[in-house]
Amino acid sequence: MSAVGENLISVSNTVFALSTPMGGAIAVIRATGPLCRPVLESVFSGRISERLLSFGRISDGGKVLDECMAVFFPAPHSYTGEDMFELDLHGSYAVVTAVSRLLLAKGLEPAPAGEFTKRAFLNGRMDLVQADAVMDLINSETERSARAAMDQLRGGLSARIRAIEEQLLDFGSELGAALDYPEEMEDEVLSSVPGALLPALSELGSLIENGKTNKIVRDGAKLVIIGRPNAGKSSLLNALLNEDRAIVTEYAGTTRDILEEKLSLCGLPVRLVDTAGLRESADPVEAIGIGRAEKQAETAELVLLVIDGSEPLSCGDRELVKKTSGMLVIFVINKQDLAPETALAAEKELTALRADAETAVISCKTRSGIDELARKAAALLGAGEGGAIVTNERHIALMELAKAELEKALDESSTDLVSELVASALSALAGITGREFSEELLDRIFSRFCVGK
Ligand code: GDP
Repeated sequence: MSAVGENLISVSNTVFALSTPMGGAIAVIRATGPLCRPVLESVFSGRISERLLSFGRISDGGKVLDECMAVFFPAPHSYTGEDMFELDLHGSYAVVTAVSRLLLAKGLEPAPAGEFTKRAFLNGRMDLVQADAVMDLINSETERSARAAMDQLRGGLSARIRAIEEQLLDFGSELGAALDYPEEMEDEVLSSVPGALLPALSELGSLIENGKTNKIVRDGAKLVIIGRPNAGKSSLLNALLNEDRAIVTEYAGTTRDILEEKLSLCGLPVRLVDTAGLRESADPVEAIGIGRAEKQAETAELVLLVIDGSEPLSCGDRELVKKTSGMLVIFVINKQDLAPETALAAEKELTALRADAETAVISCKTRSGIDELARKAAALLGAGEGGAIVTNERHIALMELAKAELEKALDESSTDLVSELVASALSALAGITGREFSEELLDRIFSRFCVGK
């Protein structure tokens, strides 16, 4: 294990990367390391004023490669904490290739994935929570998940972890003193264990709880639509997809015929699962009413059970209502435009069958009730507006580890063992912010990054 500031991995090479995707009007190349200033001075004709964009030409000897904007950030006030420059080039493949060749010839090396953020961490410019947040922000697909990542980038979670660490460190030093004077102090210190650890335990408990609820904000909630053939499942899928223009991807899921589509429901990322089944309504399995979607429903965060509201509830509908017992479900009574009275009667009957489930009376045809349904679904899944503090699996796992160690410490009757457990909890917490880290952990975190960040 190493610690930031005490055992820095020294980084002396200068690396560069294209930070924007190819094909845009502008291509940004950024570089970090000690060669940045001399190399920029040797290839760029413009005036180099610190942190100010200036216009000039990039030349290789007498050959002009591009006219561009360049900016130089001197260490330590840069993203990585080292000397850095950025070039805003014309976004052509030929220009980017020529400039990259020139930089390689000047002794710069291509940056591996995540290298810039890794250096920012190693130079103490950010902790690991913030580095994780950079990646989460880049991957954010909805406004809500971006906001959660931004909060972490600003250090919200880091500050709360540090506060817990402070409490434990204070208590740790009391324990240390008791180890030096066992007879006089052991009983006294042991009696103070619950008082010292319970606030930290309670704070960890609420952060872990927050993390579990907010997993949805990052990964998206799994939503499954079920219902009898012809109830209007595909129509609902299409209505929901039209609901929000922020459709992110459409890709094949884990098995050949399960298709997921991502959408944003009132800012909450949602994965609509088994849309393949919905689209192939001629599927014989669907026809007998045990669609694949129903199997998916068992592991869904939210189920939408679509019912044809233009006719009275059928035995098939009641069967499906029974199957959803124990699931978080909204009964969606569709085709309200055809027979509004019948739809309302169906809603009443469904509420009587299961009082705890939400209902929504809609028409996919006229889109009446669709917005309201989307809001209901988001509210049921929603992890309170703005309340996302923890969204990262790694952080949750380490907090759970720290909490388990502190819980064990509560039951110990020797200051030695309590001391060890508190130290072990502190070590888990240090792994969150990166106060202690291993090369392997850094590789795991930064290999998820894109090149150029
Ligand atoms: P699925 O088999 O459950 O996927 O049902 P579909 O979405 O294919 O819909 C079955 C039929 O009902 C289609 O002919 C749709 O046009 C029709 N339909 C779906 N929703 C509505 C609605 O709200 N109003 C009316 N009038 N027809 C609808």
